[in-house]
Amino acid sequence: MNTQFKHNFGAGPCILPGLVLDRAAEAVKCWDEAGLSILEISHRSAPFENVVKQTESLVRELLNVPENYSVLFLQGGASMQFCMVPMNFLQGSNKAAVYIDAGYFGQKAIKEAGLFGNVNVLASSKERGYSDIPGGYVIPEDAAYFHCTSNNTIEGTEMFSFPNTNVPVVCDMSSDIFSREIDISKFDLIYAGAQKNTGPAGMTLVIAKNEFIDSVKHPVPSMLDYRVYRDNGSMYNTPPVFAIYTAMLNLQWLRDKGGLKVIEMENKAKAQLLYEEIDRNPLFYGSAAMQDRSLMNVTFRMYDKAQEAEFIAYAEKNGMVGIRGYRTVGGFRASLYNALPYESVKVLVACMKAYAEKHHANVEPAY
Ligand SMILES: *Cc1c(COP(=O)(O)O)cnc(C)c1O
Repeated sequence: MNTQFKHNFGAGPCILPGLVLDRAAEAVKCWDEAGLSILEISHRSAPFENVVKQTESLVRELLNVPENYSVLFLQGGASMQFCMVPMNFLQGSNKAAVYIDAGYFGQKAIKEAGLFGNVNVLASSKERGYSDIPGGYVIPEDAAYFHCTSNNTIEGTEMFSFPNTNVPVVCDMSSDIFSREIDISKFDLIYAGAQKNTGPAGMTLVIAKNEFIDSVKHPVPSMLDYRVYRDNGSMYNTPPVFAIYTAMLNLQWLRDKGGLKVIEMENKAKAQLLYEEIDRNPLFYGSAAMQDRSLMNVTFRMYDKAQEAEFIAYAEKNGMVGIRGYRTVGGFRASLYNALPYESVKVLVACMKAYAEKHHANVEPAY
């Protein structure tokens, strides 16, 4: 039995449900479907082909993916998509790709795209320390595609609306896919490294409109060609067998819970509980602009930065891991992915309260 030893607020690879870990562990020893370890089976065997089929249909069911989209399982992480997208859709075109610069990962995507053609940054919140989602831009009608990041994992901001445009929309949804309902038909290509909400590290999920990936006219190396993955059922080469299997278990868990409607409500309740304490507690403040606060990655700081290390140690002593902010940002980041129980957020909030009392801070807000 898997026992939850710690409250895991880690940003990724992230917490998975105990039930999923139990079943994955059993399958490593012996997977009933094949009488072998899941680590030993042939990816061309019928039971594994069935896993791929089931995983795809869970993705389609949960996200309500339209018929004319392909669901693909790749490797290389979301980071490989930073170059694979422009290699397919920008290279060889005389158009420019347009990007939103709203954080660390978006910035990396922009840098890679620049290797393949013209890139215009339509809007940036860099000057504001990426504390918000920049707005007020117009997408030029002749852009090759528009690229955005739905949830900025490091900075703790999230997009709650997406542009209506005739230009193809590409979105990095690594850290909030499967956390809320989303209208897939607004996007032409979505990608997500699995280790934030989908499963373990090693698999990258791509959901792409067929018309979009069929629009590529120049030669692309097979392993970087979306059509090759589609036309070979994501099995052009050996896929990440264990990562796909565990993702399937995780998506089954999500479906059995009631799907995205239910998880979205739970995720909102968890985030609300924590943001309320951040706003109430006189020692802490939120890092992200109020209207763009992420439901997945809650970033916050202490007014007295000198106390931050002490609070992290205090939280760790109380069974919490993973609340240290990203190395270049500092402060705190509590990731509230799907599998994190409401109970864990209650423990963190209690810890913040107790710490403030210990330091004789006013219990009522100071303002
Ligand atoms: C984690 C993350 C990435 C990088 O993912 P890898 O799978 O490690 O390449 C990219 N974008 C976002 C939004 C992320 O959260």
